[in-house]
Amino acid sequence: MCQIDLNKYLEYNKEWAAKMLSSQGDYFDSLKEGQSPKALLVGCSDSRVSPSKVLGLELGDLFVHRNIANVVSHTDLNFLSVMQYAVENLGIHDIIVYGHYGCGGIRAAYENKSNGLIDNWLANIKDVIRHHKNELEEIENENDRINKLVELNVLEQIENIKQTSIYKKAIGRGEAIRLHAWVFDFSTGLVHDLKKKYNIVPAVV
Ligand SMILES: [Zn+2]
Repeated sequence: MCQIDLNKYLEYNKEWAAKMLSSQGDYFDSLKEGQSPKALLVGCSDSRVSPSKVLGLELGDLFVHRNIANVVSHTDLNFLSVMQYAVENLGIHDIIVYGHYGCGGIRAAYENKSNGLIDNWLANIKDVIRHHKNELEEIENENDRINKLVELNVLEQIENIKQTSIYKKAIGRGEAIRLHAWVFDFSTGLVHDLKKKYNIVPAVV
């Protein structure tokens, strides 16, 4: 494996911090005052999907949770803590599940080979495959089938969010939690809104 020089990142960072200061003198001071991100994004850990970069966001704009294949698991204390803090402390009312075509985690679950520990995590996606078996089998081209699974997985994770006690409590308090199903395509750079693609109303608000 080739070794990269991480020092170049630190050098870049110094230049970036100086550039930010010169263009906006109070940029870092304003961040010290606290955060009020507009949305919580649940994305994949894949290095090619960096949501802030793709969506043109700045520091403080987005509260983010990432894991392999953007899964919402009801036993994942990490995700549940992030969601609770986002909704109850930061007052976030928009949650985006942000999948992506070409997802290795989705493909691994689809291929159903033995990959060790990660198989336990991928079991969440195998449930999605089982729930949509007939729909997926109707698609002849394998890549198209996996891309469809990427979309179905995003929609399934939206449903999982709705089943959390955090979501139910927020709805019980009369708060509107808007759920967004997005898929990033790194072959075009575009983010697709599944709500529009599938004309989903109002299951994904
Ligand atoms: Zn992925």
